[in-house]
Amino acid sequence: MKAVKTVTTKQLREVTILVRYTVKATGTVILYVRNDKGVCYYCTLAENGTHSCSCPSHVECYHLKAVIKVENARKAKWDAYKATLAKQLAKQYVSTSVVAEQAMMNAALTTNQGYRLLR
Ligand SMILES: [Zn+2]
Repeated sequence: MKAVKTVTTKQLREVTILVRYTVKATGTVILYVRNDKGVCYYCTLAENGTHSCSCPSHVECYHLKAVIKVENARKAKWDAYKATLAKQLAKQYVSTSVVAEQAMMNAALTTNQGYRLLR
């Protein structure tokens, strides 16, 4: 094994997310991660913003830093997708109501025409 390089706290060490699990009832995300030394820990990210890790660190460890970064990127991607989907659905809704309006106008015109003919 190579000599361990000095890693400053600002640097992120390699963390591999092995399993990602969401507790649907609480919205808590549990990630089973492995560090560059092959040691595995559980990172728990609660919806209220409290995070915890099963590693011995008492401060926010690099596991949490890494998974939070990944989770934020995931959330940003998901939010962007939701925004796009909302726009698409809104467009679809508008076109549907326009079509309905058009159909009603056509019906009204036909009725009016019939009415005019009667006069
Ligand atoms: Zn940790």
